[in-house]
Amino acid sequence: MSIGAATHTGMVRNHNEDCYLVEPEQGLYIVADGMGGHQAGEVASRIAVETIHKFLSDHGKDENPLPDKVLTDALSAAHRAIRETAKKDPSKRGMGTTVVIAWVPPSGEVIWVGHVGDSRAYVMRSGKMKQITEDHTVFNQAYRAGALPKDPKDWPPRQQLSQAVGASEWISPGITQEIVQEGDRIFLCTDGLTDMVTDEEISSRLSMPIPPQEICEGLVEAANSHGGRDNITVVVIQIGEYKGRLDESYDRTTVTGEVADGGSGSAC
Ligand code: CA
Repeated sequence: MSIGAATHTGMVRNHNEDCYLVEPEQGLYIVADGMGGHQAGEVASRIAVETIHKFLSDHGKDENPLPDKVLTDALSAAHRAIRETAKKDPSKRGMGTTVVIAWVPPSGEVIWVGHVGDSRAYVMRSGKMKQITEDHTVFNQAYRAGALPKDPKDWPPRQQLSQAVGASEWISPGITQEIVQEGDRIFLCTDGLTDMVTDEEISSRLSMPIPPQEICEGLVEAANSHGGRDNITVVVIQIGEYKGRLDESYDRTTVTGEVADGGSGSAC
């Protein structure tokens, strides 16, 4: 397995409220996009990542675990931890975060994905990209229910979340599993990428014959060159060997990755 990860403040914001963690030994990958005034967003995303990491370190190795329950419980623990912190500090009231977790339990050829909000997970297989998560936005909810008003002027704002960890009264995480195959690339990101870069461009960059870290750097650069209006975070998990030839002409000396292949790391 080979991993890439990158996060960037973008071209407009003055601080980064996104947070990620990659722990290949645990098979755990998390991306969170915090929100809330007075720098509460970065507090919320960090609490979520730390709480989920601890929860899965404590409970993820249980004999015969139920991965869907473990992920739901981990997200609920993060939800409670954020709300408890906000209760003690009025300046943090209402803070919250999206979370997307990809977890490969010790037993498996299956990757479990749990999420709340609009940070996304995709799988890239044989040149085709598929979104695994469903955005928890008011717009997407109405769209799926066939309840969008006729006039686009009356549509809810696309960014408005229908639930967020810590900020909503309660959460109802989306949990899915995906059988992974040699050569797959699993991809996690925040909306700072998907609002700036089209699915077509993401897909074409994800299928490039270059290592995951270079893909991450390229995606961040693409989001920034299209305006970089929000913080950008991307994680690429390559399962097994890349099917195809890695491009040896790629100039690796320009890469300043934060995560060495196979290593762990985080940035909040
Ligand atoms: Ca964002």
